[in-house]
Amino acid sequence: MKLCYYADADIREWHEHILRLLRALHEDHGIEVEIDRIDEQHDPIPEFPGEVRSSTPEAVYERDLKRNRALNQSIEPTPSEGFKRYGELDIAGNVALVDDAETVQWASTLPGYADGYGPGVEDQTAMDFLEEIAIAPSNRFCVECLQLLGGDECFCPNCGSELR
Ligand SMILES: [Zn+2]
Repeated sequence: MKLCYYADADIREWHEHILRLLRALHEDHGIEVEIDRIDEQHDPIPEFPGEVRSSTPEAVYERDLKRNRALNQSIEPTPSEGFKRYGELDIAGNVALVDDAETVQWASTLPGYADGYGPGVEDQTAMDFLEEIAIAPSNRFCVECLQLLGGDECFCPNCGSELR
């Protein structure tokens, strides 16, 4: 599995915070991280511990999000509602969980902190997700099978692996 960041988040602080969290995830939990830079707004990203690609929102949408059945089931808005606003693709700043078959199994639909969107949407934000999994990936998902978790399970309900 790997974690993909569709960069750059509009707000520089968010962008830099996401990069810090991705580096920490790689170092502390051995999670593979990569970046699709679809909206380059901030500084170059040197010495990132994973692949950094230049891409476009259209390419990423076609490859990862559009007509993705797994994603349709794991996120609240459909991918077309979540990543197209007023007919324009709005993907940068989000992160995605990608399985070994290169299928996105889950993606955030709100890039930053929940404050700007109103209550009850924390789990849809990239920032909340990254901050929680930087503490322990099993706060949100099983690293073995990418099953989404509530955070208080001892064993993955899907594959049975013990969660730490
Ligand atoms: Zn599992």
